[in-house]
Amino acid sequence: MNDFAELDDVFHVEGEAAPRFFVRTYGCQMNVHDSEKVANLLLHAGWRGADDADAADLLLINTCSIREKAEHRLYSDLGALRAWKAERPGRILGVGGCVAQQEGDTLLRRFGHLDFAFGTHNLRLVPALAEAARAGERAARVEETRSLERFDLPARHPAFAGRGRRSAYVTVMEGCDLFCSFCIVPHTRGREISRPAEGILREVETLAGAGVREVILLGQTVNAYGRHDLRKGRADVVPFAELLARIAAVPGIERIRYTSPHPSFFDDALVRAHGELAPLCPHVHLPAQSGSDAVLARMRRRYAADDLRRLADSLRTARADVALTTDLIVGFPGESEADFAATLALVRDVGFVDSYSFKYSPRPGTAAAELPDRVPPEQAQQRLERLQALQRELTLAAHRARVGTHTEVLVEGPSRKGDRQLQGRDPYHRVVHLPAGGEAPEAPPGGPAPGEIVPIDIVEATPHSLLGRPLLEQATYHPLRKVKEAGHPADEAGWIRGADAQGAHPRR
Ligand code: SAM
Ligand code: SF4
Repeated sequence: MNDFAELDDVFHVEGEAAPRFFVRTYGCQMNVHDSEKVANLLLHAGWRGADDADAADLLLINTCSIREKAEHRLYSDLGALRAWKAERPGRILGVGGCVAQQEGDTLLRRFGHLDFAFGTHNLRLVPALAEAARAGERAARVEETRSLERFDLPARHPAFAGRGRRSAYVTVMEGCDLFCSFCIVPHTRGREISRPAEGILREVETLAGAGVREVILLGQTVNAYGRHDLRKGRADVVPFAELLARIAAVPGIERIRYTSPHPSFFDDALVRAHGELAPLCPHVHLPAQSGSDAVLARMRRRYAADDLRRLADSLRTARADVALTTDLIVGFPGESEADFAATLALVRDVGFVDSYSFKYSPRPGTAAAELPDRVPPEQAQQRLERLQALQRELTLAAHRARVGTHTEVLVEGPSRKGDRQLQGRDPYHRVVHLPAGGEAPEAPPGGPAPGEIVPIDIVEATPHSLLGRPLLEQATYHPLRKVKEAGHPADEAGWIRGADAQGAHPRR
């Protein structure tokens, strides 16, 4: 479920006097969550969120270097931001994330208008760096640390908006020790480090107490959680499956997701958990990268294609309806037409509901960057298109098979298509669009509000999403809240209806 996003995250709050910040985020969910952590730290330090870069006194860019394109985007952004900085005296520009971790001081030397750079282990320093920049100091702080302190962050500030009221990211581990030959992450995120289970549970309990229903557990190899520490006898971690069970027992948590797992760390207990823990969503993101054993070996992935087929079977035995998605790289050095055909075969055999596919991008300092037999760019592009055409077919077929079934959608907000629909995710992590009832995009009268979990019928399938119809009449379902929250008599599904609900829960 790697939503490789280009997000302009907005952390907005009233309060004119305080200086304002804006965070622009590139990359994966870990980066999105790091931006949330930095925003929360700044709010605690007295800063306030701005709606966009124009309104900001402090602009932070959280960068990604997973592929060359992402890194280049930073450089063109930074060039363009000279004008932003010059527009108003006192404006501050900071860069964080994977590029900052790698380039540090070099960025400051190359871009005279950049005030500071902060590495992936130094989020806690951002308020101090911003303060120092106000006093005219420039600095790069990219030290790596093994300290567990990095997990000790303040609880959500009242002004924190982040992912939303009902769904939250929770970090369980960081870093990676696997050094897949194509991947920059171990170089930018450092060594694997697991957060004590107690801290994770406390955070989940606090989030649940504040109304969060869905937690998405994050880690570069999230299911490797605790593996080194358990071996060394560290008492503050537990096996990943047990961590899931403990989180599932937290009152109020209705959905648990985790990303990104590595196929090598699915033990029996984790596979079984998918059949045993009701809140654990029936979706697993299983990054395959390739279906060719020769390519997988050169990628240093530590599994063969048949291991993935067997793992998919085991997950389906534990939970028949589990939806599987994946990441794939095409055009890895030496990938032959037969290797690529093996990837197509794997995708078909496993029946991935969706995949994120990328052309291989050599990253300086990684082992694969030195490999011979580069695949010509036109050939890689053509393979990417063939792979994506197959995936579109599989996705559409999987979506069509869902038409006529029921599910529940956690409403995220207005549809990104801008067609005045709402959108949310079902437990299988599929995007579902719902009709919105009125003018106001945030809480359309006659439609469910962002953060509600609503039961729906799936009425239509497209290659990218599903269209849902709320199971209850529009006139009656809109003020619904789950009974747990409402404390009201409910129907069998746990939902309160109609007039009862109307009076008790006026729409915002
Ligand atoms: N930890 C995850 C795993 O083990 O699969 C992957 C995390 S990585 C941040 C996300 C995805 O980016 C990878 O699954 C891979 O498909 C893609 N990726 C990483 N390095 C890449 C490269 N050099 N070129 C193209 N795609 C790459
Ligand atoms: Fe990168 Fe491999 Fe680690 Fe995933 S497991 S973050 S692909 S090195």
